Amino acid sequence: MTNDIENCSYYSPLIMGLVDDELSPEEKHAVNQHLIRCQSCREEYETFAAQDTRLGTASFVEPTDMILDQLWKTPFNRLARYGGLFLMLGGYLGFMLFAVIEVWKDKETLPAIFIIGILIGVLMLFLQALIERLKTYKKDPYKDIKR
Ligand SMILES: [Zn+2]
Repeated sequence: MTNDIENCSYYSPLIMGLVDDELSPEEKHAVNQHLIRCQSCREEYETFAAQDTRLGTASFVEPTDMILDQLWKTPFNRLARYGGLFLMLGGYLGFMLFAVIEVWKDKETLPAIFIIGILIGVLMLFLQALIERLKTYKKDPYKDIKR
């Protein structure tokens, strides 16, 4: 029994090493053998492992991501975002309509047709990017975990 207690103080730093995955294969084997036999060290290992996981999860989310996420979830910012988007799209469509009418009035304005082509192309790219962004947002596995 006295031996066991001495062993435990010997294994304690190795348990931390095991959690951090810093041990040689021999050390790992020795610690594992001790963990199989010793419940108190097993509990210590599990405590360290749980702490390690929590730290890992916390550092996994970049602070900037969290800030962006909070901004996204603030009602005012969401409104501003959609409002801005709506105004931008509305302005864009209006401008395109204007260009179409101009071409309609004077059928020989070829450059205007090119401009319309560019406008529609940019709009399509923009919409595609927007759809991709929304898809990514829906797929985000951490969306529901955060408050
Ligand atoms: Zn022990």
